[in-house]
Amino acid sequence: MTEKPLIYDLDIEGLEKLMSVWGQPKYRAGQVFQALYVDLVESFEDITTLPAALRDRLAGQFTISHLEARITLDSSDGQTRKTLFGLPNGEAIEAVLMRYKKRNTLCISTQAGCAMGCVFCATGQMGFRGNLTSGQIAEQVLYYARLLKSEGQRPTNVVIMGMGEPFHNYEATMAAIDLLNHPKGFNLGARRFTVSTVGLIPAIKQFARENRQVNLAISLHATEDEHRESMLPVNKQYPINELIEACREYVRLTSRRITFEWALIRDENDSQEQANRLADLLAGINCHVNVIPLNPTEGYTGQATTRERAQQFREILERRGIPCTVRVRRGIDINAGCGQLAMRGE
Ligand code: SAH
Ligand code: SF4
Repeated sequence: MTEKPLIYDLDIEGLEKLMSVWGQPKYRAGQVFQALYVDLVESFEDITTLPAALRDRLAGQFTISHLEARITLDSSDGQTRKTLFGLPNGEAIEAVLMRYKKRNTLCISTQAGCAMGCVFCATGQMGFRGNLTSGQIAEQVLYYARLLKSEGQRPTNVVIMGMGEPFHNYEATMAAIDLLNHPKGFNLGARRFTVSTVGLIPAIKQFARENRQVNLAISLHATEDEHRESMLPVNKQYPINELIEACREYVRLTSRRITFEWALIRDENDSQEQANRLADLLAGINCHVNVIPLNPTEGYTGQATTRERAQQFREILERRGIPCTVRVRRGIDINAGCGQLAMRGE
């Protein structure tokens, strides 16, 4: 099946250019933009502000959806929903909605599969299958925004921690954020986004220079090169000292706090000694640490740490002056861990 181009792949300038090429007045672009990102229309037919001929022309050349919801799973507590989407090229990706008090946090994907090969990660175990376009990244948010709209709600936060390495698909990821951030459209504040990277140093430096208001998280998981390499092969290319130096530079340039992610794996990286080494490594950095008990995957023998050890780990960091949160694993019963549903789908 040849799929039409996705309209979300055009930004406002792209729409303006299109309207100009089609001999339309410039304000038509604004009308389309508003319909797509404020009204969240699902079909060009519904853009009633446009003349019928223009609606037909748009519908003839573009589509409003590249994502086909194939499987939807709700956690038993009803707070977490996960959707497996098929892409036009036959690949599959996942996005998750997590409701917590007044927050509606979305976890979205940037790639089908991932090239980074982290051993404990279901997505890494799949290998790389392809990049998403900016529009396909944004569409995951718009899909859930429509769902929430029917309840009078909206996404409040977007974490780019689904399938894939966002800094390995940098331009599309940033374009998607810019699109959703646009004040005349979806208007979700840059501070509401968090992008998580395994530690691609050149991209971290670029991100720091661009001085975005977007939050940055670094997946660390170990404090020593040999150990980190055994879990995160990319560490061979970008060793810990250089990574931490890039993080310091990021904090210096942006004056923003940085987050470090640590998946606690039983008897692997959950000891008190490890916590102390981590505190040494992060000393003096304006940061926050998120620890999360490992979500066990089929391709990896490691197990989750215990609740007690997770608390112990947190207390050590806190005592050393580093704020730390133990994240609860959400939606375990629906394979809400990164890449786990796509694995099952195959
Ligand atoms: N590629 C990016 C973002 C996607 S992964 C990155 O690696 O940061 C999002 C987070 O989930 C990362 O911190 C990653 O290390 C973590 N993660 C992956 N598999 C996991 C698992 N099985 N259990 C717990 N955390 C996991
Ligand atoms: Fe890719 Fe992140 Fe999974 Fe590593 S943890 S394989 S970088 S998605």
